[in-house]
Amino acid sequence: MADQDEDLVDVDPYDPGDGSLPVFRWKQAGREKLATRRQLREMGLRPGGHEPVARIECRGGKRWAWLYRIDLAKPKLPMTLAKEAALDKAMAARQTCGTCRRRYFHCIPLKTLGSCLECFDGTPADPASYIAPPAKHLLAA
Ligand SMILES: [Zn+2]
Repeated sequence: MADQDEDLVDVDPYDPGDGSLPVFRWKQAGREKLATRRQLREMGLRPGGHEPVARIECRGGKRWAWLYRIDLAKPKLPMTLAKEAALDKAMAARQTCGTCRRRYFHCIPLKTLGSCLECFDGTPADPASYIAPPAKHLLAA
């Protein structure tokens, strides 16, 4: 019973309270397709941007939690990771020289020069300021 009680800390303050959502009891039929936010988390999932489809109640409705559809749930992906990936892509475009394919740790004047300084006027770039371009794939040579 401890697990069930723990699950009910998921209480959401936005209870429509109008009976618009079905209410399930613990271990009621159909529950295997539904899970609370905490149960989704334990499965490595998160609500897939969808609204809860039901509530689960115990103790006469005094304690309850939202239920989400497991088949609509999505894998847990911390937003920070997704943001970082998007940000990194944008940064890479501004830091990579189109001529030598080096990626610098700073933005290069692509708009004015179209390449890094070394490609533009031969000013040697500090090897510590860039990542060497990826080695060419043997099959692509
Ligand atoms: Zn370059």
